[in-house]
Amino acid sequence: MGRQRVLSGVQPTGNLHLGNYLGAIRNWVEGQSQYENFLFIADLHAITMPHDPAILAANTYTLAAIYLACGLDLTHSTIFVQSHVSAHAELTWLLNCITPLNWLTDMIQFKEKAVKQGENVGVGLLDYPVLMASDILLYEADKVPVGEDQKQHLELTRDIVNRFNHQFAEPDQPVLKLPEPLIRKEGARIMSLTDGTKKMSKSDPSELSRINLLDSPDEINKKIKRCKTDPIRGLEFDNPERPECNNLLTLYMLLSGKTKEAVAAECQDMGWGQFKPLLIETAINALKPIQDKYQAVINDKSYLESVLRHGKHKAEAIAHHTLTKVKTAMGYSLPL
Ligand code: ATP
Ligand code: MG
Repeated sequence: MGRQRVLSGVQPTGNLHLGNYLGAIRNWVEGQSQYENFLFIADLHAITMPHDPAILAANTYTLAAIYLACGLDLTHSTIFVQSHVSAHAELTWLLNCITPLNWLTDMIQFKEKAVKQGENVGVGLLDYPVLMASDILLYEADKVPVGEDQKQHLELTRDIVNRFNHQFAEPDQPVLKLPEPLIRKEGARIMSLTDGTKKMSKSDPSELSRINLLDSPDEINKKIKRCKTDPIRGLEFDNPERPECNNLLTLYMLLSGKTKEAVAAECQDMGWGQFKPLLIETAINALKPIQDKYQAVINDKSYLESVLRHGKHKAEAIAHHTLTKVKTAMGYSLPL
């Protein structure tokens, strides 16, 4: 049997932050040699909120360079741009037609983002989870490493698989493969620096709410100095009354590579005045190698383009195969 297949992606919207890195990309990199990985730049998802075309194009290259800078290895991982493989949009239409509307209106992310968008919510925002289901199902992924915020969308993907197979496949010959989420406990939900009860997000209007992977040492210094804390001395994990404290200790633990026990012991008597400089230094040092590599890759556009071209060809062959199976099961005759 071949290696299990992993599929995941990040939207090229705004700056990548520590939540994206610690909740998603770092896990792709750490597990990559065990799996066959398909990692894409989710540029069709990126237009579910209002967008600027020039920025979308620039962010797509930036994100591909960040994937490589974070350590994705092309011997294990295929990197491609979602819009380069038209099967994503086509399968979305087919799955739309079997997805009940109330499954989508119930999604937490839709409700949260719809509020931000005001009255004129695009249909694409509502349909985001069906596009995500198509992304996963086209590659017959076994595992989908994501942050906690995407868990509900993955459950919806599984519901769509069961509904599709029930309607269009024989019980012993499913057409669509049931994927499993891969959500690591630590880092699955990194919180905002300005509100420890909200997740860190690219779409948060406040830059102070997140540390971006490409932030300069000065910016990291400023953001951590100004981040929200509490007036209590002695730092601790897992106190529900102190969400900011738990989040900042988690960041320190993950960025330093120390264990939770070691961090708890080191910080139990500290005040914020002592802890913040430590976190600042740790964050700057952890991001430096990624930033150095990023600079090298982003300046080599022809290399980046060749990576994406190669990724497209590899992804397209697999996606087309699945799409054909789905269309046949639904009763479409294929063009001669
Ligand atoms: P947006 O606000 O535009 O939705 P985002 O910050 O949620 O942006 P996405 O591109 O939607 O970023 O998500 C990319 C990946 O990062 C997903 O796997 C998602 O689960 C993960 N992720 C996003 N935010 C966090 C977070 N705060 N903590 C851990 N993982 C996260
Ligand atoms: Mg998101």
